[in-house]
Amino acid sequence: MKYRFALYWCFFLVFTTSFSQQGVDFISGSIDISIDPYQEFIKGSVRYGFKTSNKADSIVVDARKLNILNVRVNKKNANFSYDGNRLVVYKNIKANRSYNLKIDYEANPNKAVYFIGWDDEDPYNNQVWTQGQGKYSSHWVPGFDDMSEKLVFDLQISFNKDYEVIANGKLIESQVSDSIKTWHYAMEYPMSSYLLAFAAGSYQSQITQSLSGIPIQQYIYTDRVDDYEPTFRYSKEIMDFLEAEISVPYPWQNYKQLPARDFLYAGMENTGTTIFSDGYLIDSLAFSDKNYVDVNAHEMAHQWFGNLVTEFGAKDHWLHEGFATYYSLLAQKEIFGEDHYYWKLFEMAERLKDGKGEALIDPSASSLTFYEKGAWALVILRDRVGDIAFRKGIQSFLETYAFSNAGIADFIKSLQAYTPYELSYFEAEWLQAVDFPADIVINFLKENNASIRQWLVLRRELTTSSDSNEVVIKRYWTENASIFLKKQILSKFTKSLSVEFLKEIFDSGQPELRKMLAVYLDRIPPELRNEFRSLLDDNSYITRENALFKLWVYFPGDRVEYLDRTSGIYGLPNYNIRILWLFLAILTQEYETPDTKAIFRDELFGYTSPDYPYEVRQNAFTIITEVFELPDQNLKDLVNASVHDVWQFRSFARQLLNDLLKDEKQKVRLRELAVELNEEEKRFLTKQLDVK
Ligand SMILES: [Zn+2]
Repeated sequence: MKYRFALYWCFFLVFTTSFSQQGVDFISGSIDISIDPYQEFIKGSVRYGFKTSNKADSIVVDARKLNILNVRVNKKNANFSYDGNRLVVYKNIKANRSYNLKIDYEANPNKAVYFIGWDDEDPYNNQVWTQGQGKYSSHWVPGFDDMSEKLVFDLQISFNKDYEVIANGKLIESQVSDSIKTWHYAMEYPMSSYLLAFAAGSYQSQITQSLSGIPIQQYIYTDRVDDYEPTFRYSKEIMDFLEAEISVPYPWQNYKQLPARDFLYAGMENTGTTIFSDGYLIDSLAFSDKNYVDVNAHEMAHQWFGNLVTEFGAKDHWLHEGFATYYSLLAQKEIFGEDHYYWKLFEMAERLKDGKGEALIDPSASSLTFYEKGAWALVILRDRVGDIAFRKGIQSFLETYAFSNAGIADFIKSLQAYTPYELSYFEAEWLQAVDFPADIVINFLKENNASIRQWLVLRRELTTSSDSNEVVIKRYWTENASIFLKKQILSKFTKSLSVEFLKEIFDSGQPELRKMLAVYLDRIPPELRNEFRSLLDDNSYITRENALFKLWVYFPGDRVEYLDRTSGIYGLPNYNIRILWLFLAILTQEYETPDTKAIFRDELFGYTSPDYPYEVRQNAFTIITEVFELPDQNLKDLVNASVHDVWQFRSFARQLLNDLLKDEKQKVRLRELAVELNEEEKRFLTKQLDVK
């Protein structure tokens, strides 16, 4: 998926307005909140313990758009001023003393806490979850947005007892009083506030354990328990691998992970409590098409790289994202093998070669640079210094800066102690330089992986040889050739292959190759009809979706058969098969009665509604607008989508809306519909209508 890397948390707004206060060291934070999800309202208090080394006359706390009710220092009311961003507490603070600061407050957060599904009928949809990084936890708790202020937190959260509440740390007790339950979670070690998290929803969990005894508690929606195994497949293996590879034990008491609906990114590595997009909640048939393994390993690796040792700021962001991406790749190598690893690196190199080029120390670099160039930098670094020095350097770095902050220079220093290789060469080439060292990378791949070597030779041969493409390809297409090489060939050259050769590939029975044919063959010759038909039973929703669509197009006489064979299948989390199926069923004259078709139509057009996850909505909009004009309700759904919290979906919707606004008729319709929209939607639409 080409936009995958952009789905991790994105690097906006990295410069906090916060600053560390000289002479004041915050040690602990006890947060106590109750949440009313219907009003999107939080009432809370937070108590901070701090020590002083100097005297001062005020303390500053980040607090964004809160209602501050009361402030006490050592149990006495204190004067304060508040400008909507920063709370200044006036108090004569003496040197070398311990204090506590208690703040009572209310919040109606429009960021950092997200309330999903509370206005629709389905209680399974109801969720509350947080996103701290880039959004600031001080939207829901007065605190410290500076990443270098690390505290030991505990969280008490009161919520409707019919739901499950999850937060950082270990659940030490819970109490029920009437309809309200209070969950009390506590951390053992200090962490930055951007990693604070809680979530509430209809969750059930299962616990497994790492080899070292760390509880791994994994949550799933109560109506999706069958998907537990495929969704969380390899979690324990990843944890065991990371602990062994990094040689520093997992730093926190436990590890929890939970899916969230309409989550802003693929995943977020809150301390011990990863929240990830429920677009990765999959059944076992989907596993080969889309799975959580990469994101799972990435967020888990952050528990060391980012959470245990935290950057000072964006110029050190390589230490978070480059490292998490690299360790995820290593975990995938352990699980899926060497070819998987090197071909992923190859794909990343191709993207980076085509990219505009950015230095890894550039604080405003893109995710492509921080994640993928960042991972490549570590691959090459390890190659230069050798495994032993690399692992010792990593271990020493993590141990030296544990539970505190570090910059790139600190990492280099840690590693330099174990290697005679002059690391300043590496720094100049990989961290400071803008250009991606493509030649170095390609040579590395050629030296280390036979199938990539073959691909590069084959690709050259195809342009220079006087033989046909197929003749050249067949020289490499041996029985024990790598499946990755074959997939790569099919992704580029399917169109130059003869029907006989394609038949052989179909008959090989290799699902990954059959999928490539389903996706990359544009025209289906009549001789391949039976082969294509057989794809409808393959264990891949992508294969089935492509087969259904192409069979429907190229063999119209059998449309009823294809529809019958695929009815009732939903497919991937974006309902790829169901939505396509409804669309084709509506368009197939001889299929079903007009009454049934009306039901299909209602279902298809209903999928653009906010009742569904954004991936489903996006897919429905895409398919419906291929042929149909959007009815009023869908137009309203489109405006709603244009102000959605997930930026990929929001920009998709805005693009579609802009296209519609070029048509005078649609513009008039939208103008009339504006009265039926909520304030935020109306404001957005009015602006669009004025511009156009
Ligand atoms: Zn990350």
